[in-house]
Amino acid sequence: MSGVVGILLCAGGSTRMGFDKLLTPIAGKTAIERSLEALLRGGVERIIFAVSPSSKAFVESLAVPVPSDIVSGGATRAESVKHALEFLRLHQGAEIVAIHDAARCMVPPSAVRESIECARQFGSGVVAAKTADTTMLIGSDGVPVPLERDRLVRMQTPQTFRFDEILRAYEGDLTKATDDCSLYLAAGYVPHFVFVAGEAVNQKLTSADDWQLALATYAHFGTGFDTHRLVEGRKLILGGVEIPFEKGLLGHSDADVLTHAIIDALLGAASLGDIGRHFPDTDPAYKGADSLELLKETARMIRLAGYSIGHIDATVIAQRPKLAPYWQSMRTRLAEALEVERGAVSLKATTTEGMNDEGKGLCISASAVASLY
Ligand code: MG
Repeated sequence: MSGVVGILLCAGGSTRMGFDKLLTPIAGKTAIERSLEALLRGGVERIIFAVSPSSKAFVESLAVPVPSDIVSGGATRAESVKHALEFLRLHQGAEIVAIHDAARCMVPPSAVRESIECARQFGSGVVAAKTADTTMLIGSDGVPVPLERDRLVRMQTPQTFRFDEILRAYEGDLTKATDDCSLYLAAGYVPHFVFVAGEAVNQKLTSADDWQLALATYAHFGTGFDTHRLVEGRKLILGGVEIPFEKGLLGHSDADVLTHAIIDALLGAASLGDIGRHFPDTDPAYKGADSLELLKETARMIRLAGYSIGHIDATVIAQRPKLAPYWQSMRTRLAEALEVERGAVSLKATTTEGMNDEGKGLCISASAVASLY
């Protein structure tokens, strides 16, 4: 018999949002992967995935570090759980079963752990949340009836039970059940609730708002910094714009210091290394390279890694020339290369009041911060 088995429900259709919410990466990882990680970190020792035809191939491709099986989901959530429980009954059984909706991918591992502990002790551990909003029940006559807020509880997942008890509960009428706890209750058991930190983010990805919350939860930030020497006989290019000046920046590529700092910030936010790793200055391919092309390539890598670009904020550190007349064209060119709105690119400049090498006109530096979702 297995000890603690997780049933991960990956069969929910997700046509409501216009894309597959379970299979679309959120900052590099899908909801299925995030939920799986939380279950494993919370102490689950074996996983049964209930999948739909659309999620099956993806789930099969996952490297799961514990024993795992895949069963076909049903037409409803309850049917999917039933399939998984039946499979488990025929294949080794379990002591404790933690049932979790993959769409609740922001569940803290501590919630999983506490739910399992509670089920060990009391037979069940249902992650639940109190409600802060005044809640009313609309009567059959259309008149709302205020409910006693302090006694209201919203069910989340995981919902964890002793295997034999939840198996028995699933012999009941599945047609009206929207969660496991309702069936458990209908079978005559009294569920134990677990109230944990993190209930506010343990939302099911249902609406566009939930999706935004998930993106914000997993925002990543990166910083970048670069310096190039100012010399005679070179063009000065900043943010992809040629700026008339008596000197230009020295470098293997076009030495666009601003764009380089932005590239490093983006790569950093995605943990993809730095500009030197992807576009080495020893590679003749990048001699005289247009840095905006490198920026485009960086944006492509970032998207491939499952991120979307949130915002860029960059500062150019230069004593001269005055850059203000060029800001808008730089922002436009950078935004076009990144395929983002111009409002997502913020540019600033500072002098060093004549101090440091920038202040003495020996070089120009730039720093940047990027956020990715
Ligand atoms: Mg550079």
